[in-house]
Amino acid sequence: MARKNNGNPAPIKDILNKLTIEELNIKGKRVFIRADFNVPLDDNLSITDDRRIRSTLPTIDYAIDEGAKVILASHLGRPKGKVDPRFTLAPVAKRLQRLLGKEVIFVQDCIGLQVESIVSKMKEGDVLLLENLRFHPGEEKNDGEFAKALAKLADYFVNDAFGAAHRAHASTVGIARILPSAVGFLLRKEIEYLKGTVQNPVRPFVAILGGAKVSGKIGVLENLVDKVDKVIVGGGMAYTFIKAMGYEVGDSLVETEMLEFAEMIRRKLIKNNVKFYLPVDSVIAQSIEAGSETKLVTTQEIPKGWRALDIGPASAKLFSEAIQDAKTIIWNGPMGVFEMDAFSRGTFAIARSVSDAYALTIVGGGDTDLAVHRAGVSDSISFISTGGGASLQLLEGKELPGIAALTDRKEE
Ligand code: AMP
Repeated sequence: MARKNNGNPAPIKDILNKLTIEELNIKGKRVFIRADFNVPLDDNLSITDDRRIRSTLPTIDYAIDEGAKVILASHLGRPKGKVDPRFTLAPVAKRLQRLLGKEVIFVQDCIGLQVESIVSKMKEGDVLLLENLRFHPGEEKNDGEFAKALAKLADYFVNDAFGAAHRAHASTVGIARILPSAVGFLLRKEIEYLKGTVQNPVRPFVAILGGAKVSGKIGVLENLVDKVDKVIVGGGMAYTFIKAMGYEVGDSLVETEMLEFAEMIRRKLIKNNVKFYLPVDSVIAQSIEAGSETKLVTTQEIPKGWRALDIGPASAKLFSEAIQDAKTIIWNGPMGVFEMDAFSRGTFAIARSVSDAYALTIVGGGDTDLAVHRAGVSDSISFISTGGGASLQLLEGKELPGIAALTDRKEE
């Protein structure tokens, strides 16, 4: 099914003063592409989900078509600066080879004489994948010597690893300071949707926030407070807001240190004439266990010893009505403990409503990405981010180090 695209994001040139891959003359040149191939592997090292690999294909295909010598690099897992066969990129090389329909040369390190010698023999259009960057301690430390060793391999640097763009590592920041560098197609798309949409939304603009904690979404709320038309809060974080309004929430998740902030931001939103929605009913249980007894109650009547683990059907209906007229929707964070069947209905109902809306719909990475896939509606979302932490930082209006370090575009 084709992806639904109700509206377009802002063009990159209006929102980011960085070179893009199309502005580099890469024919015959060695191009180091930092990708995010941090894919989940099972015990037999088989890839269980290759979406992260697929999402970088446009950049790789473009570089091949332009006649570049394509050097790909990524991290995988947390090997903590040591060689660990459980985190090898060998399975990624194999999958890439199949997806590209051409040979992918895999080298067993990412720096050093042997790698340099193999790179020196590359021809135009050849593709090479380096071994896990995090097998070297210099990667996460953004060590200057390690960055130099990586930079030695190439003429240009292209960053397409959105999922790692919020980290200042040698392969995201260090190398970008040494080589002429640019944004790849995936990174570009992420910036256009996540940054461009918030800067210049088609209205009504609705933000749906959920997940466990208010503390994880403070920056997003602060950034959106004078930009959105409606804010819908569900998930565990809703109960800190409800408690701050003076209601009892039983044993629901409450961040005591966030109570004041929650009340302050709620008042600010209302003062700004933003329509603010909280759950009106909740699915509750005495413990987060499969098979535990559940009840449906109004949010005002959560008994002691019980905790709210999902929004109820009245809230799902209310939230769905609130997004009916939206032209832009950003959704980050599930409405309940959706990983368990008993508490997944609210999140899936919102997933369906978001996907049905005639709006530009953007879903933040991580849990929400998983939720829309499980709900079976991912094809009807305009854009699903590939980054968790990085997408939150962009929504917070922050500059990401991996983007800031890239070469500026000269004013025309
Ligand atoms: P976050 O990383 O902050 O977006 O949180 C995602 C997690 O929040 C998911 O694993 C959910 O299971 C969890 N979550 C959502 N709603 C609740 C809730 N009402 N109580 C406890 N945890 C929740």
